[in-house]
Amino acid sequence: MTRISCFGVHSARAANDDPDKMMYTFKRGEAEGTKEMKHTLGGKGAGLQEIAALGLNVPPGFTITTSACERYQSKGESFVNVDLWPDVLRGITFLEKTSNRTLFRSGCTPITRLPLFVSVRSGAAASMPGMMDSVLDIGFNDEACEACITAGIDARFVYDSYRRLLHMFGDVVEGIPSEDFARALDAKKKSIGASTDAELTSDALRELCDDFKRIYEQHKIQFEQNPLEQLRKSIVAVFKSWNNPRAVTYRKINNITTLRGTAVNVQQMAYGNLDDNSGSGVCFTRNPATGQNVIFGEFLLRAQGEDVVSGARTPIDISQLSATLPDASADLKRACAALESSYSDMMDVEFTIESGTLFVLQCRVGKRTGAAAVRIATEMAAEGCVTRERAITMVPTRSLEQCLHPVFTLDANSDEYVTRVVTRGLSASPGAAVGAIVFNAKEAEKLSSEGKPCILVREETSAEDVGGMWSANGILTSRGGMTSHAAVVARGWGKPCVVGASGIHIKNGKELRFDGSDKVYRQGHVISINGATGEVLDAKLDTRASTIDTFLPLKTLMAWCDDARRLDVRANADTIEDALEARAEGAHGVGLVRSEHMFFGTPERVRAMRAMVVAQHDESALSAALETLKKFQYDDFYGVLKAFAGYPVTIRLLDPPLHEFMPSAEKLREGAADEIARDVGKSSRDVMDIAKDLQCANPMLALRGCRLGIVRPAISTMQVRAVVEAAMTLRNEGVAAMPEIMIPLVSTTREFTHQRDLVLDVIRLVAEERQEPPLRIAIGAMIETPRAAFIAGELVREGACFFSFGTNDLTQTTFAMSRDDSDAFVAPYKTMGILSEDPFVELDDVGVGELMRITISRSRAQEIGGKSIEFGVCGEHAADPASLRIIDRMDVGYISVSSHRVLVARLAAAQASIANGSKPHARASKHRHVASHAA
Ligand code: PEP
Ligand code: MG
Repeated sequence: MTRISCFGVHSARAANDDPDKMMYTFKRGEAEGTKEMKHTLGGKGAGLQEIAALGLNVPPGFTITTSACERYQSKGESFVNVDLWPDVLRGITFLEKTSNRTLFRSGCTPITRLPLFVSVRSGAAASMPGMMDSVLDIGFNDEACEACITAGIDARFVYDSYRRLLHMFGDVVEGIPSEDFARALDAKKKSIGASTDAELTSDALRELCDDFKRIYEQHKIQFEQNPLEQLRKSIVAVFKSWNNPRAVTYRKINNITTLRGTAVNVQQMAYGNLDDNSGSGVCFTRNPATGQNVIFGEFLLRAQGEDVVSGARTPIDISQLSATLPDASADLKRACAALESSYSDMMDVEFTIESGTLFVLQCRVGKRTGAAAVRIATEMAAEGCVTRERAITMVPTRSLEQCLHPVFTLDANSDEYVTRVVTRGLSASPGAAVGAIVFNAKEAEKLSSEGKPCILVREETSAEDVGGMWSANGILTSRGGMTSHAAVVARGWGKPCVVGASGIHIKNGKELRFDGSDKVYRQGHVISINGATGEVLDAKLDTRASTIDTFLPLKTLMAWCDDARRLDVRANADTIEDALEARAEGAHGVGLVRSEHMFFGTPERVRAMRAMVVAQHDESALSAALETLKKFQYDDFYGVLKAFAGYPVTIRLLDPPLHEFMPSAEKLREGAADEIARDVGKSSRDVMDIAKDLQCANPMLALRGCRLGIVRPAISTMQVRAVVEAAMTLRNEGVAAMPEIMIPLVSTTREFTHQRDLVLDVIRLVAEERQEPPLRIAIGAMIETPRAAFIAGELVREGACFFSFGTNDLTQTTFAMSRDDSDAFVAPYKTMGILSEDPFVELDDVGVGELMRITISRSRAQEIGGKSIEFGVCGEHAADPASLRIIDRMDVGYISVSSHRVLVARLAAAQASIANGSKPHARASKHRHVASHAA
């Protein structure tokens, strides 16, 4: 079977004539076809096939498949030399036939026209910008240069291309440090007074080629003069680059785990450095930072693509191309429109103009910021280019987190802000970032590991900097345009980034100065950058998240999501602030109030809780401590219930083991015991003894959950009282408070009935005291143990109105894996393939999922007399897209997620319903109160 697939201007015809079947046939346009094509040919290779099939002008070439890379990784170089080489030679024959150019062969002089030169580029199925290697201008050698010049081809172009090959081949294939060539280039420019590469004359470039060859000699390497050998060695080098450290790091950071390797694209070079009507550029079919529907990009005349993306010369805005090369500019607009409509997405397009003729070199779905993702999706749907469903699936959930990117609290028009601006660059990736200046990636990684925010400041970034870029809070470069490495990578991550701030002068990678000032800034000085405006400020500004109301496309998208999703979305909110945030983000209720979190808020709350914990057998101290706690709980329940008037608020009784409220043994010894003792009027020794008694070998399986409420009923009683009194007060104020009481960690029916009776007694008692009708409250349980799942039917018979799956604990108890200690084996298990996913991150359908289904079916079987049990999921899995696809297929009514993940959950739930084809109308009613208890 052939390991290559050809493409090119005449590829369709060539395929038909092709006796060796050198083209794969994929079902174009069909999702599966495209996916398979990408997996086999890599993103770049698949893109080239698409571009060619659209009839756009693409330089012909062929793609060596990702499976060939996989074979290379196991068999080594002999695979290329023996197995792959005949396919490559057939590919070259195809290329020569299609391009009408011939690879230069020694002794075949004179020539009459430009020979065939090729590029060898990496391209995996997932985008890994700049992480792997490529070699361009393959085919040049001493003899070819002379022959070209004799044939009348511009000498400057010839030597410019040759020196590029010498440099790239030396670096990528022969392992000669790139800096050696860069130094020689700088020296040459200096010697003739040139400030950019473009100013180098043909003589200077010829001399530079000689200088470069001398560098080879210094490393005791002979430059490979045979074009076919250049090609073979370059293919091997690109295969090798799949496992270079930066590519491995990038895959790790971006969780790219399932790929076979990189494909290799061998393609005819189109020359943007051929003459004055030539150039190279990169563009996006829409603005990748904001999403605005205008072609956005840059180009350089007399340049190869590398010059545009490397940041070595600051490129020209694409809007000026029409004035310079109008025909090529019109062709580019047509190409962008064709590509966008074929892919139904915003595209990133690389192009070269050779003597006025446009070549599309590659395209891929464009990386964009979170805000741009939302705007592009909603606008493309409004324009009729995509359906609303497709628009919803076009927005990755993680982009919502970036979408409401931080902004400065200080008004940008205020004098204080304006006077702090020290320079401006291009607004490459929006968001406000504040941190200490660092000049290299390693420092950024170090500071971030110490929890210190930093801004990575570089002249330009390269693939080696990726780890540091990831760690930094923001990225600032003095060179490079909107498509430079820093800009593309930062945008992909939604990290604030300003590029091309030419007013910054970095000295020796140790200090910097801004234009117009002598002040010297060293590592550690805190600055702020505004990725939305390109401003750099000498200030440590405060930031805050932006809100949905300030970004209309997000509002639109969320409304579409609400129409598309089956699952209702509630929030896990423990404080009034959380509740207000969740309400503003569109939560339809609170699915989990972790009532214990209310005691962590302030030192006085912590003190009150500790007083309760140590008041063990001292009745009067206990009731005094509980009374103090009740006041806090009352206020919080009142606020949360009010924020969610008309929506259910599920309050869980105290769950964690009591030792969690006490300081550690070490802190107790260091003085904390004395402090608590003073507060509660006991001796430090007593406090230490009580704390010791609370310690347990397996706290998660010990005195916690409903066991605590049963063994220490005064705690549950206090909590229920606070809920009931707050709700009755609100009822009297005309507010529709809808509390529900949830009993945690149930595993026997008697546990449930014990706590149920306690709740009902309190409801009755409070009603009697206040001489008001009793409150109707739904009582339910968390399903967090396998046994709870099995007895769900009995719990329903005993009056449970709802169940909420605590999938964190249910995973822990199903796997018998401590949720606090699982790192030690889950990570190695994943590496060894024993677990494909961390079950605490992605719901385990086989075990945990099955227990959920058992719960639901046994409960439903007990629904009699119009009773309807409601099911929710409030573990962390509720916000995980993969888990949501599983949950969406169950008869679950709602998910409950942490308050700041409500938007993500609304989107992810819609995506799950679309993926599953679930019917949105089956969603539970927002205002239900299926069943409730009255005392
Ligand atoms: C759970 O166990 O899934 C849950 C939501 O409760 P917690 O995380 O508080 O134990
Ligand atoms: Mg739990």
